[in-house]
This record gives sequence, structure tokens and C-alpha cells, in this order.
Amino acid sequence: MTVDSKTAALLERLGAHLVPLVLIRREQLSPRLIELEFSGLVEDLVGKPGNDIMVDIATTNPDKAARRRYSIRSVDATARRLRLWIETTSGGPGSTWAATLPTGSAIRVIGPRGQVSLDMQADWHLFIGDLTFLSAAYAMAEAIEPPGQALFIIEVEDQADVVLPALAEDIAVTFVLVDRDGRSPNDPAGLLAAFAALALPELDGHIYLGGELRVVAALRAAVKDRGLSDDQVHAKSYWRFGVANQPHGEPKKDD
Ligand SMILES: Cc1cc2nc3c(=O)[nH]c(=O)nc-3n(C[C@H](O)[C@H](O)[C@H](O)COP(=O)(O)OP(=O)(O)OC[C@H]3O[C@@H](n4cnc5c(N)ncnc54)[C@H](O)[C@@H]3O)c2cc1C
Repeated sequence: MTVDSKTAALLERLGAHLVPLVLIRREQLSPRLIELEFSGLVEDLVGKPGNDIMVDIATTNPDKAARRRYSIRSVDATARRLRLWIETTSGGPGSTWAATLPTGSAIRVIGPRGQVSLDMQADWHLFIGDLTFLSAAYAMAEAIEPPGQALFIIEVEDQADVVLPALAEDIAVTFVLVDRDGRSPNDPAGLLAAFAALALPELDGHIYLGGELRVVAALRAAVKDRGLSDDQVHAKSYWRFGVANQPHGEPKKDD
């Protein structure tokens, strides 16, 4: 595939590939969560569980495409299939794209991307976040080697949105559901309380945080307060309440 020099430089810098895909299926997993399945030569997108892809989304201003990043829910090089799970409440370009892209559409994505992946040395793995984190969290949890332990603390606006993980029988699973109960999505109180109430397993574990920027920051501080070291935590902000993600796909941090 031919790429312009700017894209070639970006791919070089990211160590990523530009891959054409075709949308073959859309499924409403829950009121707010959509699964998209693509076909294509996805072997170049096989990285680590927790990796993501970046997609260019056309906006009403043709000069201003918005880039959005989505965690790879699964990628199967043999079947040539890739799945994404996308939360669709924002009404922004990403969620609109996910909800309306016609099946049969050809797109191009850049990936694999991202620094968050499963810590294979950890004895237990705790995933904390909101619906936008389910894709990465479940992809990582499915890579845990048995016998292992996966714990989840997931906050939802509506319990109808809970999609439970389906892990191998020899993985011990603890799932804590937090009802947002009318709090703002950038209010960390619900997840902080659930984390404080959870007895952490013994031995060495790893904690993965994903979701709204302010919530992730508060959780990161709480994790540190419980004595975990920096190398036992992966934290990634996916979006910021009240502020659209930047054109390159990341939420805007404070100056
Ligand atoms: C590395 C990475 C991986 C990601 N993986 C996933 C993934 O697997 N699945 C997924 O769904 N998202 C994921 N995201 C988030 C995703 O990229 C977009 O931020 C999200 O789809 C919203 O984009 P948008 O264009 O629809 O809205 P934007 O234009 O960014 O925002 C429009 C408005 O909607 C608000 N908003 C944005 N998201 C939400 C929300 N969840 N709830 C309520 N309000 C919101 C914003 O605060 C803003 O006010 C990931 C982000 C990153 C950086």
C-alpha cells in the first residue's frame, strides 16, 4: 500500500503499521456498548493484549479529521478478524462513527499502539475502570496464564451495560460492579470506595486503570497509598469529561 511521507514518518515513529480493514459486523452488546468486527490482513496488528489501534474519523470539516484510539478486543491473524468494543454515549465523532459506519465500509487503521499490557510476572491482576476500559481489560485478562487470578472493579451508569468476562475455568475471577448512582462520570468516589473495600490478594499483583482522566488520576493516587510501587500499576486516561479528545486521540491533560 502506498502511503504519503507524513504518514510514513508517523508509522516509523510509532513502530506501527497502516492496515486496511473492512467492517463486516456490528453488534449491540448492551445499551451503550457496540462491538465492531473487521476483516483484513490483520497480522500486522497482532501485538500485546491491551494494545490499541488509531482510526481517522472524518468530521464536518474535511480538513480536520479526528483521530480516535480503540483498544483491540481481539485479533485473530488466522481468521483475519479484529474486534473492537466501543462505548457510544459521548455523541462525539468516535462514538458516532462506531454507531453509524455502514457494514462493508473500508477503513485504514494504524497499530498496534500503546504501552499498557499484561504483566506476565504478576500473581494477580486487578482491572479498574469504566465501560471504555472493558475491551482492554478483558483482552488482557484472557491472556492470564492459568492458574491465575483476575479481579475487576467496573463502574457503569446502567446495570444493563454490564458485560461479564468469560475466562478459562482455572482463572479465579472476582467482579465488583459499581453503580454510578447519578454521580458525574468524572467523580471517582464510587470506584475509590470499591477499591478501598476490596482486600487485595497476597503475593505480587498488578493493577490496571482505564477510563476518565480525573478518575484514573484519583485511582492511581489511591493505589500508591495502598503501597503498590509504580511498576505494579498501568494507568491510562481514555477520555476527559466535558472535553473532546485531541485530534491525535488522547484526552487533554492539564497544562
Ligand atoms: C489508548 C486509548 C484506548 C481507548 N480504547 C477505547 C475502547 O476500547 N473503547 C472505547 O469506547 N473507548 C476507548 N477509548 C476512548 C475513545 O478513543 C474516545 O475517547 C471515545 O470514543 C469518545 O470519543 P468521541 O469522539 O466520541 O468523543 P469526543 O469528541 O472525544 O468527546 C465529546 C464529548 O463526549 C464526552 N465523552 C467522551 N467519552 C465519554 C464517555 N465514555 N462517557 C461520557 N461522556 C464522554 C467528552 O467529555 C466530550 O464532552 C480509548 C482511548 C485511548 C486514548
